[in-house]
Amino acid sequence: LSDRLEGAFKSLTGDNKITEINVATSLKEIRRALVAADVNYKIAKEFTDKVKEKALGTENVLKAVKPGQLMVKIVQDELTDLMGGQSVGINVKGSPAVVLIAGLQGSGKTTFSGKLALYLKEKRKMKVLLTACDVYRPAAIDQLTVLAGQVGAEIYKEPDNKNPVDIALHAIDHAQQNKFDVVIVDTAGRLSVDEKMMQEISDVREAISPNETLFVVDSMTGQDAVNTARVFNERINYDGVVLTKLDGDTRGGAALSVKYTVGKPIKFVSTGEKMDALDVFYPDRMAQRILGMGDIISFVERAQDQFDEEEAKRLEKKIKKNKFDFNDFLSQLAQLKRMGDMKSLLNMIPGMSKAMKNIDIDDSAFSKVEAIIYSMTPAERADPALLNMSRKKRIALGCGQGMEDVNRFIKQFDQMRKMMHKLSNNPMMAQMAGNFK
Ligand code: GDP
Ligand code: MG
Repeated sequence: LSDRLEGAFKSLTGDNKITEINVATSLKEIRRALVAADVNYKIAKEFTDKVKEKALGTENVLKAVKPGQLMVKIVQDELTDLMGGQSVGINVKGSPAVVLIAGLQGSGKTTFSGKLALYLKEKRKMKVLLTACDVYRPAAIDQLTVLAGQVGAEIYKEPDNKNPVDIALHAIDHAQQNKFDVVIVDTAGRLSVDEKMMQEISDVREAISPNETLFVVDSMTGQDAVNTARVFNERINYDGVVLTKLDGDTRGGAALSVKYTVGKPIKFVSTGEKMDALDVFYPDRMAQRILGMGDIISFVERAQDQFDEEEAKRLEKKIKKNKFDFNDFLSQLAQLKRMGDMKSLLNMIPGMSKAMKNIDIDDSAFSKVEAIIYSMTPAERADPALLNMSRKKRIALGCGQGMEDVNRFIKQFDQMRKMMHKLSNNPMMAQMAGNFK
């Protein structure tokens, strides 16, 4: 999908205005790409119509912005919207809270049950009871038992009982008596939707009235995922969706279609067989994924766009002579800012969005650094070596920050400068850097 979309946007770059014609060309490509990613044709059509409206509407307002980038932004915002806009958390209020897991066989219910147990234990500090209600396959109970052991949760099972309603009710009793915070009920599934299975899962749901019912669906099943999601929703009116197997050769389109078709939020995505391969679902991240923004090429292209060749040569010389100063630093900062906000840039580096999940990059960190440099005299900016104690004190007062902030920045600047100098005089590194120009 990402390749196709990139192609779609390429037809826009170069033109400096969004017109009816070039929008139509790229929208057709986008529509094809979405359909190829298992988005239902009707949804894709409605989606691109909306994007078209927006793109043409902004023509005059945003003349300065490159149309390709503008389209990326519009498409991304619309995708985010379509997938719910905001992240919706799991409801685990209750004593105990009861979470029912439903879905087809092989969709990843049992695996997810284990992951959810780990998540609730670690992130919410809850005491978790896993319940084995897949009564058709003895191996299913063993599987859940192994997973429970792995994540350090307790399991409730009755190997000789063939009635899932009974087992679930007993498990909840057991949880109440033993002060568990949450009961996760793993159920059986069939290879395809059939009446017996639907009756069973709705019986269980009725009997235990869970606080949260989650429908688990394999994102690799494409268009089928949507149909299954619809049938389950009609019968058990679940609260949220879990998309599994997003680690494979993924069709991000399932996320879009499922949310669009059943209107229920996607709450988790499962990205592997290991117990910690579970993520809370964020619509904006999925939009980026569908758009194939986790792509170093677009990062480089975008950076290159803004980068002035002349400036690059001038800087290279300065770095080689170890003369990189605060003025150069400021102009680099300005360039970075022009490229867009830091977070979305970093998200484009593969793996980065995952690594950055818990780190909040703050654009205000830039402003703090800028304020420090602005409080320097022109002489100081051009010659970092001038900065002695009394000058630093003056700067700290001038920018309203502490001495430690000023010292820290100057130290970091110094290290960066040394590092750049070293790299610039290392032929191999210089060549590698050259390859990216
Ligand atoms: P259930 O029948 O719905 O309980 O499905 P299982 O939890 O037993 O999963 C079926 C198979 O899919 C197992 O081999 C799991 O290891 C695998 N699986 C489940 N979730 C994921 C996932 O997110 N990624 C990958 N790669 N495999 C998964
Ligand atoms: Mg199972």
